[in-house]
Amino acid sequence: MDATLFTQLAQVVTCEAASEDAVHAGHAVLVRGGTIAEIGPAAELEAKHTAAQQVRCGGGVLTPGFVDSHTHAVFGRWRADEYALRSRGVSYMEIARQGGGINASVQDLKARSEDELTELTRQRLRQMVRHGTTTAEVKSGYGLATADELKMLRVIRRLAQEGPLDLVPTFLGAHEFPAEYRGERRGDYVQLLTQEMIPAVAAEQLAVFCDVFMEPGVFSPLETRRVLEAGLDHGLIPKLHADELENSGGAELAVELRAASADHLGAISDAGVRALAHADTVATLLPATLFFLGRKQYAPGRRLLDMGATVALATDFNPGSAPSPNMALVLTMACSQMGLDPLEAIVAATAGGARALRLTDGRGTVRVGTPADLVVWGVADYREIAYRFGTSLVRGVWKRGERVA
Ligand SMILES: [Zn+2]
Repeated sequence: MDATLFTQLAQVVTCEAASEDAVHAGHAVLVRGGTIAEIGPAAELEAKHTAAQQVRCGGGVLTPGFVDSHTHAVFGRWRADEYALRSRGVSYMEIARQGGGINASVQDLKARSEDELTELTRQRLRQMVRHGTTTAEVKSGYGLATADELKMLRVIRRLAQEGPLDLVPTFLGAHEFPAEYRGERRGDYVQLLTQEMIPAVAAEQLAVFCDVFMEPGVFSPLETRRVLEAGLDHGLIPKLHADELENSGGAELAVELRAASADHLGAISDAGVRALAHADTVATLLPATLFFLGRKQYAPGRRLLDMGATVALATDFNPGSAPSPNMALVLTMACSQMGLDPLEAIVAATAGGARALRLTDGRGTVRVGTPADLVVWGVADYREIAYRFGTSLVRGVWKRGERVA
């Protein structure tokens, strides 16, 4: 089988742990059959594998590809109009009340065909790859009606089959209440979710996870529990948008329901932090959203790590509150705003994301036997990836050993 040797690397960051033991200077990486076959001192591997094709990395840094574990990458149009309003001080919730926000994307998505959405999403996934992402979770949630939710999930399935990105699909029919179900008809929408949408999604095996946007004014704790329990009954693993802008006990509920992750956590309580400490539920932090919304309060990333929580970092890529697929920028925010060090941030964005998606094949790390999902960075020190923010430092991206960017 053809082998490829990644050599002339200043550092290989394996992301097995957030310690300097996971940073190897002067190492090379041998890939065979799409899998990491060997890691070791460059001179040794070069002498041993003379027939291997060489990728000379020019003194760069090699890391695992990012595992972006929280995105809303399927949508129609961008919403720059709302950004202009928000920059003048109109709040996100106020814009939603005026017919903007998630419901604007819902109306837009209804009018588009599956083919059209597939093409729009394909372009965005290419951008994600160019920024170093090799696995991404993608949610539905701009349909809010059975046919449209299924349409979104079919788009994700088509693009997952097409590659090169691995996509993990999440059903998020409980992203918002459709306009016609607000007020007294909320219960009817929860019933539609639990009795019709979830069974339909499960029947077509269109999702791995079931997610709910639990937040005051959106889904209550009781409604959230009903939706996630219905998902569990149909084999969908819970995930939760929790405590984003206000605390409502989302982190605690996520842990109680053994959710794969509790995401956002900008307003998590002390009890929520304690619940996530040493829990299987991953604390997924999305600082780009809070940054973009102009919030001053970020999730307590440092404290969560110190308390023993598993932390993931993701983009929340979406047209309303985080229109960027750039994971490196998320690393900068994690370091500058939440007190993670650059290595902790890289581990959270790779191995942490893989934990949040319950991937068990070693994706998010570079070690023998794991898929060769790799990024080579044009930097001499891994710390520059978070430090030199706003610059594209990706030199190349490989998915299962094949160059994809
Ligand atoms: Zn989200």
